[in-house]
Amino acid sequence: MDAVLALLHDLVAIDSVNPSLVRGAAGEARVAALIADVCLAAGLEVHVTEVAPGRPNVVALVEGQAPGRTLMLCGHTDTVGVGDAMVSPFGPREHGGRLYGRGAQDMKGGVAAMIDAARQITARGGLARGRLVVAAVVDEEYASIGADALVREWTADAAVVTEPTDMRMAVAHKGFAGVEVVTTGVAAHGSRPQDGRDAIFRMARVIGALEQLDRDLQAGRTHPLLGPASLHASIIEGGREASTYPDTCRLLLERRTIPGEPSQRALDEVQAILASLAARDPEFHATARTTLARDPYEIDPLAELPQVLGRLAASRGLDPAPTGVSFWTDAQILSAAGIPTVVLGPGGAGLHSDEEYVHTSDVIACRDLLVALADAYL
Ligand SMILES: [Zn+2]
Repeated sequence: MDAVLALLHDLVAIDSVNPSLVRGAAGEARVAALIADVCLAAGLEVHVTEVAPGRPNVVALVEGQAPGRTLMLCGHTDTVGVGDAMVSPFGPREHGGRLYGRGAQDMKGGVAAMIDAARQITARGGLARGRLVVAAVVDEEYASIGADALVREWTADAAVVTEPTDMRMAVAHKGFAGVEVVTTGVAAHGSRPQDGRDAIFRMARVIGALEQLDRDLQAGRTHPLLGPASLHASIIEGGREASTYPDTCRLLLERRTIPGEPSQRALDEVQAILASLAARDPEFHATARTTLARDPYEIDPLAELPQVLGRLAASRGLDPAPTGVSFWTDAQILSAAGIPTVVLGPGGAGLHSDEEYVHTSDVIACRDLLVALADAYL
């Protein structure tokens, strides 16, 4: 078996469900310890930084013979949770060119590829110049405290985030903003409309306006690689019992942003809706706040890194055309820290769902492409 696939088996076999997503979940400590051991055994310089209790980033370095530029490879070690229907999520199975298990595609395939690329470079004698930084970070599936900590300590001249892109080079992805809206009514006995003010009815007005806003967004400006922005209502709760006017209703919505839209835009739009509803009805009371927001990301496809990587991809029979991915990644954090970044990783299917797999040939191809990129760029 190719060493990168053996490593992938070992990574998938360790439960590293994000404990901020799933209460009491395992977290990244054990998988980080394995990565640190593997990198030390391969002769890499290893730095472990505990970002939160039991949640370490691992950074491994290959130092060149002479000074030069720095290339960073970055992947996250956490995974989303496991549904009841998932068959042996941490017992990796290989079948028909696919490796199944939680995190196989998102993104232990990409993590195995970047670590094994560094191992191969070290084994064949290291780099003539420059530095390769391999960063395995925590918490991408929740709040990216790992990537935030990484860019405070480390920098690079270019970076590849090896999230799953079917081996296409992604140069853009959307951002997101969660907004919580609370409408306020007055609790009263259900028989006394003169006293009660229905917070749920008031939220219905907000939802009507949000649905119109979503239609306008989707019919509006379109990013060439990402399409239009959008929003959806995620969670709603309100009311206490059948015979009481609800005094409060809470809605969580999520707005997906495209490059050119700051994540603050979502809250501004919601505030404008609330202000216009309040102007029409003095008894309408509502507040809004941002819960978690991350900006969109893009890099000029004509910049050096996408050009170099595109040429290498084409020479290996891969599709070199730049693409976009809909999901958010740590590429935005690296990019905002001034590191030109692209997203490229192995293909598969089922990320975040009950059957997840990665194509094993893509994991090997990704590893080989990263070795070639280090040679070409450094
Ligand atoms: Zn991911």
